[in-house]
Amino acid sequence: MTPRHAYVTLVTNADYAMGATALARSLKLTHTTADIVILHTGGVAEADLAPLETLGCRLLPVEHLPLSDAFNERHARGQLHAAAPFTKGRKPLFHSPLDNFCKLRLWELTEYDRCVFIDADAIVLRNIDRLFAYPEFSAAPNVYESLADFHRMNSGVFVARPSEDTFRAMLERLDQPEILWKRTDQTFLQAYFPEWHGLPVYFNMLQYVWFTMPALWDWNSISVLHYQYEKPWEKDHPKADRLKPLIDLWQAFYAGDDVPDISSMANPEGAA
Ligand code: UDP
Ligand code: MN
Repeated sequence: MTPRHAYVTLVTNADYAMGATALARSLKLTHTTADIVILHTGGVAEADLAPLETLGCRLLPVEHLPLSDAFNERHARGQLHAAAPFTKGRKPLFHSPLDNFCKLRLWELTEYDRCVFIDADAIVLRNIDRLFAYPEFSAAPNVYESLADFHRMNSGVFVARPSEDTFRAMLERLDQPEILWKRTDQTFLQAYFPEWHGLPVYFNMLQYVWFTMPALWDWNSISVLHYQYEKPWEKDHPKADRLKPLIDLWQAFYAGDDVPDISSMANPEGAA
């Protein structure tokens, strides 16, 4: 029997549908044999999902998690940003932190043996199907500023094994009185899987590394490029000048234009 594998992403509004379109195009170009599953909530219009349908993605409607009103209020954008301010970058207005928790619905996809979750604001630059042979829970470190970042994981790319038992156990752990998961699903998943298996940073290269730690940059090694904080489809965001080559690359995937040969892209000044 062929193994049942899927790349999974989440889309709760029109902006992230754009992101997922570039992601799905990039995955197709790697000649993956896995399914591409788009978990989408009621907030996304059919027209915004149409390009994903055309690309052959499997569209799966999901509900928000059954969480208490108090939990939802604590994790609403205004409250969360006040309680745990973002100082390193800025989240676009279309980002609702509460929506992130819908990622956990991946564990309900028990028709698959393994899933690789990828944020809708990422693109895949080379085939990564071997990740389906990796154990739960594998993820890369949250590196975008300094060596200390290696202590934490980033939940933009992870390998997981769907299981109703795990999903139930997660829901129980998630909604505790007074709990605030400051960085939402990411903080939760790191607590739930304290012994997470570390993937090389190149499986989830965060865009800020381009200017904060250029010595780490290497187009020949990067498998997944992740546009954390400001998004490459936002008009003139505060870091757009500094990230121009990365934004142009994302735009080429999104538009379905010819994509440049990644290995011939210029590394940033200061690259090793
Ligand atoms: N997401 C979404 N709608 C939202 C917020 C998040 O669909 O309002 C999904 C989307 O897949 C997104 C992921 O959850 O890529 C995590 O959010 P984001 O990538 O914006 O966070 P960052 O990588 O900047 O921390
Ligand atoms: Mn992201």
